[in-house]
Amino acid sequence: MSLMCNNHKNMTTTRVLSVPSAKAPFEKTTIERRELRPDDVLIDIKFSGICHSDIHSAFDEWGGGIFPMVPGHEIAGFVVAVGSDVTKFAIGDRVGVGCFVDSCGECEYCLSGEEQYCTKGVINTYNGLDYDGNPTHGGYSQKIVVTEGFVIRIPDGLDMDVASPLLCAGITTFSPLKHWNAGPGKKVAIVGMGGLGHVAIQFAHAMGAEVTVLSRSMNKKEEALGFGADDYFATSDPATFTELVGRFDLILNTVSANLNVDQYLSLLRVDGTLVNVGAPAEPDQYKVFSLIMGRRSIAGSLVGGIRETQEMLDFAAEHGIVPMIEVIRADQVDEAYERILRSDVRYRFVIDISTL
Ligand code: NAP
Ligand code: ZN
Repeated sequence: MSLMCNNHKNMTTTRVLSVPSAKAPFEKTTIERRELRPDDVLIDIKFSGICHSDIHSAFDEWGGGIFPMVPGHEIAGFVVAVGSDVTKFAIGDRVGVGCFVDSCGECEYCLSGEEQYCTKGVINTYNGLDYDGNPTHGGYSQKIVVTEGFVIRIPDGLDMDVASPLLCAGITTFSPLKHWNAGPGKKVAIVGMGGLGHVAIQFAHAMGAEVTVLSRSMNKKEEALGFGADDYFATSDPATFTELVGRFDLILNTVSANLNVDQYLSLLRVDGTLVNVGAPAEPDQYKVFSLIMGRRSIAGSLVGGIRETQEMLDFAAEHGIVPMIEVIRADQVDEAYERILRSDVRYRFVIDISTL
């Protein structure tokens, strides 16, 4: 293996895009990936999606950022080496890695396949510390080492570039749609048509729900209908909130900023649920009466477990669910962040790692 660096105990040197401190521009540098443990696989990354969470993290909007930081949790590539105990994967397999790379494996949530809620604390793919206390570094990188239990197989029917956004945007929307029973007879609204929102439309439609998109402007209407939306409204038009009162069983909020929560709660039927996956740094506000008057709920949801992520990729391949992406070079990531903040992306940037 040419990349094995023998003076560092068989660690793998890999090129990465790294942020030295909050809001600083990206730098090309190298890091060492750990020596393969018996259950590890070494992945040669081909594509890495840019999630809005990468921006929240690299700008340290949520606090507690660990710098230098190598973001990226929408990873797709090939297995190029396996540890001696690996059984699930072989060299040459097409694989993905999502938002987390380890968990305790013993708590009730790990045992039930919802590792993201691990009571010991799930290990994030980047901007986290592993159980040995070493910082984790993500997918804006040529290589990554991950224990096989946290690696997902990319089905043959999915190209790698479009598979990468599904590893976060896909599972983050698929999981709550399933959990809250999006399906035939259910009226589902997707708020915000960005990276998450545009795949949420496709999943909710494929699950059989009646899908309405609530976007700020009418600009994305044609594409929303193309993704399978039945209806589309602009939230900048106050008439939207009178016309749609009491309409939805489920509202999936994918917006990265705070919304007028009471306004959205008023669009729920009795027993309806507003599920937040969008993760603004500032607290939301709402009136308790907005819940009481319709036995409504507000909920949140964090990505999805490994088993469900595999199920989501297989479902996407089977139903022809494909993120709409713009592939960029490694030296365009700073500009891509600015464009995402201006909502100037249709609908996910994906870094071609061969340009790193
Ligand atoms: P994105 O591509 O930037 O999409 C967000 C969309 O929200 C935009 O396209 C825009 O849609 C809408 N929006 C943006 N600013 C807004 C504002 N000020 N007011 C109203 N609407 C606004 O982001 P993303 O990658 O989809 O991520 C969305 C959020 O989900 C982020 O906060 C991210 O951190 C979070 N996230 C959470 C999880 C989880 O596990 N819960 C996982 C991944 C990401 P329109 O133009 O259609 O209005
Ligand atoms: Zn993400």
